[in-house]
Formats: sequence, structure tokens, C-alpha cells
Amino acid sequence: MLKIFPQYFQIILAKLAASSAVALACFPFVAPAQTGAVSMNLAGSDPRDYSAPPPFIARLGEVPDWTILDAYQHTITREEFTYLLNHCYARSKEEYKDLITIQEDRVLILKQSNHPEAGWYDLRFRQKGHLSAEPPRFWRRPVDLPDLEPNSTRPLDGVLIAIDPGHIGGKWVTWDDRHFRIGRDTIEVREGEMTLTVAKILERDLSLLGARVLLTRNSNHPVTEERVETLQEEARHYLIQRKKVPSGSLISSTAKAMFAISSEIRERGNLVNESLQPDLALCLHFNASPMSARYPSFKTPNHLHLLINGCYSGGEIAEDDTRMEMLLRILQRVYYEEVELADEISRPMQKETRLPSFHYDGTNGMAINNNDLVWARNLLANRVFMCPVVFFEPYCMNHREVYDRVQMGEYDGLREINGAYRKNIYQEYADGITAGLVRYFEKNR
Ligand SMILES: [Zn+2]
Repeated sequence: MLKIFPQYFQIILAKLAASSAVALACFPFVAPAQTGAVSMNLAGSDPRDYSAPPPFIARLGEVPDWTILDAYQHTITREEFTYLLNHCYARSKEEYKDLITIQEDRVLILKQSNHPEAGWYDLRFRQKGHLSAEPPRFWRRPVDLPDLEPNSTRPLDGVLIAIDPGHIGGKWVTWDDRHFRIGRDTIEVREGEMTLTVAKILERDLSLLGARVLLTRNSNHPVTEERVETLQEEARHYLIQRKKVPSGSLISSTAKAMFAISSEIRERGNLVNESLQPDLALCLHFNASPMSARYPSFKTPNHLHLLINGCYSGGEIAEDDTRMEMLLRILQRVYYEEVELADEISRPMQKETRLPSFHYDGTNGMAINNNDLVWARNLLANRVFMCPVVFFEPYCMNHREVYDRVQMGEYDGLREINGAYRKNIYQEYADGITAGLVRYFEKNR
């Protein structure tokens, strides 16, 4: 992976001796402009002659300010841009054909997908052999970090790691569907509380290895201040924009998803991008096999996979804010860090969890290397956290063994589970990640 653009990395290494990482001043999206005023179009016609439709944006997204890309002019070659877009980000060339046009010396990006009159953003490529400025980004690669002391026992010294315990817990679990109970006298499985348990173990263990660990949430309480009640009007607007009939029940389910998913994750994104500004982020989740929400039951599959950001559909690339976020990930070269981090962590994680890999069929997840534990998928958190993100999906919570291990809770040492001595499930999860991070930083620092 790192070998694909040796020229690029040599240039960066040389430049790093002279300058430290450039801080990206927050995540400066502007508020949606509701007026019809747009910039001059390519044909040069009078912009006052028409009124623009409301921009097509993701749920609770904001209209992007395309001038953010000005800082990335002449920072990427045509060869590298095309490679990243086609190899990891777009599911196929078809998905972006009307939105992104690659020319010899530049790429043209449609500013408003449902209104071509708003014009194209013109991003110039770096010419081969030319030195370029560092792409603005707040995160540091392992090679950007200070060298370790000889014989250091703290391989993660100085690394800033954000941990995002997926979902929410406590009385808030009812707002998403990641909780269930099978059998009367059992403890309810609550993904948002289980991920927080793993996050706290990781916070302790990674700190001992020298990392500065920052959690996006420390309690079961939501990070967002929005609530289902405050999002009703927003939900109605969104449904109308998506040409759906805003019935009472649809508004209610949309407002619920807006609260528990969109608003919550976007607020954590603001925290990550504006105040934590970590070198990498770990999104912790537990998986589950499809089952009836009303009558939960045990299912046989149990598996493991790790996700990096990628695999955008045409519909996603057509969202103006999503298109901008995808481009920023390409321009910041997040891919190289994500794929190697995920690759390194996946192996000790499989050793710890003893789980087989999960396979996507190529629609919402796609293979990006020859490791069948690592896949690319476009999720809100791994898109809006503007740094390398590894998203974890081990253990199916509705597999009987996993459910039993959740009932056992945290314990010290090993206990026999189906004939094998195992750590508690949370420590096992955390140990896989810790071992992988140590391997990654020892190798690359
Ligand atoms: Zn989850």
C-alpha cells in the first residue's frame, strides 16, 4: 500500500523535516444558503434568470463551501487522484460520471448535483516531479511523530487516539434498535453500553503504552443536544427533499434516526474535528445478524470484520456535502493509513476473537486489499471524522456464545467457554486492537 506512491512519500518525508503538520481550522461548512443566488455558470449566462432548487444533501448535512478545496490546489497528481477514487472510494466509474470529470491537468467537480448552473469547482493537479505543499490535515502519520527513545517500552508515546463507543446507552437505548433480550431472566444486550466498556479498557491500556486517549463520550448520555422532539420539522423537510410523503409515522421514524444516528454522530464529528483533532479514530461496535426486532432469537453466524471509508454509491456522491467529504479524504490521503492500520489490527484481533471473516457482496461494502477481514464502506462516522478511522464490527450479539459471554460480564483472568479458556469478551476485543496498534506503530514509526 505505502509502496504505490514512493515518490509522494519521499517528498512528504523530506518536507516534514522542515515543517510540522498543518492544522486544519475546524471543519468549516457554511449554513445552507436558501436563496437562488449562485456563482456564474460555465456557459456564462446570467445567474439572476433562474432560481436554484434546494441543494441535495445528506441527512442533517450542510451545504459545502467549495473554497475549502482551495488549500488542496496542486497537491495531488492526476495519477494518484484517479487511483484513490477508482480503487477505494467510488464503487465504479459509473457512480461519479456526471459529477466528477477528470481532465489532463485538473478535475472538475459539480458544485450542486441537482443544479448544474451552479458551476464546477476546478481543482488543478500537481504536475509529476513538482514539489507540492502538504495537504492540510490536523492528524499526523506515524512518520510525522517524534522518534521514540531507544529501548522505549511505550510504542504509542504521544499518539493522539480518539475512541468512539458506537451508539448510546442507559435510558437512551430505546431510540435505536441496538438492544434486545432473549429469554426472560437474562441481562439485556445493549450495544451502546458494551462499546463504552471496551472503550474504557482501551483508554486504560493504550494510555499505559504512551497514547493520549480521548473518548467521544464517557457516559451513556447522548453527545447531541437535539432530541426526537426538536427534530420533527427537520425530518419533515428532509422527507420532502427526498420526494417522500411526510406522513406522521414516517416523520416520527425519521426524527428518531436523525437523533440517534445523524445528529449524534455529526456532533461527535464536530468534537473530533474541532477539539480532539486526533491522529486516528477507532469506532467501536458489535455486530448482529438480521432478526425480528419483536421476537429476537439466536442466529448461527458469528464473525469479524473491520471497515475503512470507501465504496460510495452514485446516490451518495450526488449529495453535495458527501461528495466534498469524500474528496477531502482523497486529498488528505487518509486511505493509506486506514488500510494499513486495519490490516495490522485485523490479524491479532482474529487471533483474540477466533472469529471467521464476514463477506460483503460488493454493493454496500467492497474489498480493497487481499485481506478478507478488511472492507471499505461509507458510514457517517468513518466519513465525517476527518482523520484515519478504523471501524470495528466483531461478534454477532445474537449468536448464543456471544450472548452468554455478555451475561458473564467483565471478570479477571480466564474462564472456560465451550471447552476453551477465554478472557472476558470486552478485554479480548480491546487486546486485539491494542496488539494491532503496537504492531502498526512499531513498524512505521
Ligand atoms: Zn453498531
